[in-house]
Amino acid sequence: MGRLYFRVVLPAAMVALTLSSAGQDNPLLPLLTLLAALGAALHLLLPARLRDAVRYGFAVMAIAFVLGVTALGHLLGLRGTPAQLSVALLFTPATLMAWTLLFADRPRTALVLNVTLTLSMTLLVWRWQAQGLQAGPLLNLPLLVAVIGAAVVYYALTFAHMNARYHAGEQERMRDPLTGLLNRRALNERPGAQGTLHVAVLDIDHFKRVNDTHGHLAGDRVLRAVADVIQDALAGHGEAYRWGGEEFVLLLPAGSDAPAVLEGVRREIAARQFTGGQRVTLSAGLTRLGDGEDLGRAFERADAALRAAKDAGRDRVVLAAPGGPGTAPLDKRALGR
Ligand code: GH3
Ligand code: MG
Ligand code: MG
Repeated sequence: MGRLYFRVVLPAAMVALTLSSAGQDNPLLPLLTLLAALGAALHLLLPARLRDAVRYGFAVMAIAFVLGVTALGHLLGLRGTPAQLSVALLFTPATLMAWTLLFADRPRTALVLNVTLTLSMTLLVWRWQAQGLQAGPLLNLPLLVAVIGAAVVYYALTFAHMNARYHAGEQERMRDPLTGLLNRRALNERPGAQGTLHVAVLDIDHFKRVNDTHGHLAGDRVLRAVADVIQDALAGHGEAYRWGGEEFVLLLPAGSDAPAVLEGVRREIAARQFTGGQRVTLSAGLTRLGDGEDLGRAFERADAALRAAKDAGRDRVVLAAPGGPGTAPLDKRALGR
């Protein structure tokens, strides 16, 4: 957004100002052109890490320019002319919109800058009118600037709110509301196997019985508790998804001891006593990604390992080697059980 404003909009405004101020002997328009040129040049020449300073600096400079002309213009012979008035009337709303986008990540800053610019421009046009500038018998110029400015500020504010809500919604779209884990959509839209080495599919055993015996709210509490145990076990290394009802997918990075993490989750769940005294267990299939393998294939293998865990009696983690034949139960003794 900054690039568009400083590299395209400001130079275009400079050209338009230069062309339209030819033949005018008032130095205000050339001064304004100079200001735009300064902003564009600073953005182009300063290193990228100073771009934020340029953005703020330019907005403050522009407001200071307007206030300076308002306060001192008559001393320098900078009186308002109909040509300058057209520029002020056209540029004010355009600048307000541009700054809204330029500071879309800082809605409050945008609001403060926009309100200040509107007030400064209103003052300037009021000064010009007091000094004898007439645009036509029916126009109340300062009022016009204030009203147009206020309308644009209002639209800008609405836009900023919509933008913030859109971004919050985007985050929410990827979360499962019950457990707070990422959801299946997040997994589907994930870019490839990036950073993943191990894939696990987990499924709570006989979960239907929990619902049937203790009710669906108790079932929901178990789901949340399992999600918490999974999050704790990952400790920030890896990603946890709620894939479906009582099924979870874990993606673990290289460097994590995936079998130990999975076995830790299994053991923690089996040891817990949930509200009402019920106990649950879970089964899991775990595999490692082969060289250049995509996530979908590894998922299928982990899912097959999960089915093997169920067939072998549940409450266990089964490993499936990439490219290897079949599956193997996790050696629990090796993990210190
Ligand atoms: P298995 O050991 O073979 O996995 O048996 P299971 O009973 O866990 O598997 P099944 O697929 O028969 O049942 C899954 C149950 O999960 C059925 C459904 O009512 C329940 N379930 C799915 N989503 C939710 C949810 O959001 N909340 C609650 N409370 N239950 C859910
Ligand atoms: Mg299931
Ligand atoms: Mg199940």
